[in-house]
Amino acid sequence: MSLKFECPHCEARLSAEPELYRKEISCPDCSKDFMVPTPEDLVGEAGKVKFLCPFCNRKLSAGPEQFGTEMPCPFTDCEKPLMVPRPEWKPVPTTRLR
Ligand SMILES: [Zn+2]
Ligand SMILES: [Zn+2]
Repeated sequence: MSLKFECPHCEARLSAEPELYRKEISCPDCSKDFMVPTPEDLVGEAGKVKFLCPFCNRKLSAGPEQFGTEMPCPFTDCEKPLMVPRPEWKPVPTTRLR
């Protein structure tokens, strides 16, 4: 199973196979180097998508079970119905591995 995580520099959504864990790679989006995390590094965050509420502009996050569904904004002064985006994670190209 591939690990889903965000580039620490540009927040591009990436996915990596287990053989890349703890390896230094270049981000396919911003070309900066960083270390691929392991699932233990991402407890509670793995597979989550972060997005902005289009009504109140606050940062939200949702788990895989909410992708593509409608949910109310969790902030009580907003609570507007919003669509949770379906994220796409780019596979990290192993050719960039050094
Ligand atoms: Zn990046
Ligand atoms: Zn909101």
